[in-house]
Amino acid sequence: MSLTSTDLHSSLKKYFGFSKFKGLQEKVIENILEDRDTFVIMPTGGGKSLCYQLPALMKEGTAIVVSPLIALMKNQVDAIRGISEQTGIAHVLNSSLTKTEVKQVKEDVVNGLTKLLYVAPESLAKEENVEFLKKVHLSFVAVDEAHCISEWGHDFRPEYRNLRSIIDRLGDNIPIIGLTATATPKVQEDIIKNLAMTDAKVFKASFNRPNLFYEVRPKTQNVDADIIRFVKQNQGKSGIIYCLSRKRVEELAQVLQVNGISAVPYHAGFDAKTRARYQDMFLMEEVDVVVATIAFGMGIDKPDVRFVIHHDIPKSIESYYQETGRAGRDGGEGHCLAFYAYKDVEKLEKFMSGKPVAEQEIGNALLQEIVAYAETSMSRRKFILHYFGEDFDEVNGEGADMDDNARNPKPKEEAKDEVLKLLRVVKETNEKFKTKEVVKILVGKVNAMISSHKTDEKEFFGTGSEKDESYWMALVRQVLVAGLLKKEIERYGILHLTLAGEEFLKNPRSFQMTKDHVYSEENDQAVIT
Ligand code: ADP
Repeated sequence: MSLTSTDLHSSLKKYFGFSKFKGLQEKVIENILEDRDTFVIMPTGGGKSLCYQLPALMKEGTAIVVSPLIALMKNQVDAIRGISEQTGIAHVLNSSLTKTEVKQVKEDVVNGLTKLLYVAPESLAKEENVEFLKKVHLSFVAVDEAHCISEWGHDFRPEYRNLRSIIDRLGDNIPIIGLTATATPKVQEDIIKNLAMTDAKVFKASFNRPNLFYEVRPKTQNVDADIIRFVKQNQGKSGIIYCLSRKRVEELAQVLQVNGISAVPYHAGFDAKTRARYQDMFLMEEVDVVVATIAFGMGIDKPDVRFVIHHDIPKSIESYYQETGRAGRDGGEGHCLAFYAYKDVEKLEKFMSGKPVAEQEIGNALLQEIVAYAETSMSRRKFILHYFGEDFDEVNGEGADMDDNARNPKPKEEAKDEVLKLLRVVKETNEKFKTKEVVKILVGKVNAMISSHKTDEKEFFGTGSEKDESYWMALVRQVLVAGLLKKEIERYGILHLTLAGEEFLKNPRSFQMTKDHVYSEENDQAVIT
């Protein structure tokens, strides 16, 4: 199909009423119209849907859109039907349809009326649907939320794994469009491999959100008071506060209410009606704040969320990026504040310990990254974008001064000698202890485990006694993050040297330790120093 830019623009205007394409949309659409495999990586709100909707409307045949959530499909179908007189122009094909409805959908597809057919991967896998779709003219298959293919993504769906073989059965050379807002190189690799789209043209938009301000504060026992103070300073503004547990969601919402802040709780434990009511109250601005678990947010498009607070550290940088991404959609201010205590990380670790080993391994690796984010003293924006494989100039880049570290550089101190002492203890004890024992050995304290191994008789016992346990705990974490030590997965928590750690022992070099967080011995809560 040979189309000029004017044709494309007039179609855009005709179907969607927009006069300009957003970002990479036009280039993506041109590629799709040329029947090429296409991989679109754009942050949420970047305008991915239009990338396949417009070519689907312009092309002959029906485009299949694979999507993981019925609610998302329904929204899109409603939106498309809104731009056309024809109800049949877009359909969802799923197992909840009645026989009559299925018949109607199939009729519309066969008659060439349906341009977009939304299906969940489970429905696409059904033999009767494959048999039906084989016989109709398909323009392309769009795999929305393609990160669901990858275990390293934030929403792994095993059914997504089989898509390629199903698509192959639908016909020869059907173009595939993969779309995701997950930017990590690992996930992208998985998607390309799994969908066998090595020749796809990749369109990747920047994930930088220059209007978002990133901040991490130590989480103390006064975290509720800190949150109340923050919300009061931002009175009248919309905000989301994420908590890990449902219980905490309810408690915190109540604490806020008692303190005169209009807030509602939200989590998956409420029935659908209650959830819808609280969500509407937030969207309609009857309340300022929603205190929620991560169940809240998917598909929420409130443009003027002014802050996103994480009461507990999220399970990955990816989740953090997605959750904070709900702030400042309108381009205005968006403050992303995370409270961090290592204790929370241990909670998440414990939570994962019952899961299959492979899952734990991934979960822990992702967790180490978010710990590194929380503890880092470098530009947080640079850190996040680096994680997504994007280079960011922390001096001149857009939004360079928009984080706590950029505004208030944290003090650091040389810890080369201490790292050496730590690595030696791990090595000399034959890598059999967890952090707790290693730290005790360093400061020269005994427990049953240590005395049973007679470690207290060794010459390295107590070599770090000039520092306290909280110092060593912090150093272990930073050394883990720096990749000199790693935790064993099988007997989780046992410290091992990495190759980089061995190398450090042979050729010690400077190690800059950030002096920001200190953890008290009893409860491992951060205290501000
Ligand atoms: P994503 O799927 O990437 O999160 P959406 O497809 O939901 O993003 O698009 C986000 C918003 O941008 C929607 O409200 C959509 O209508 C709007 N949008 C998309 N393309 C354009 C455009 N070319 N001009 C103006 N608005 C657009």
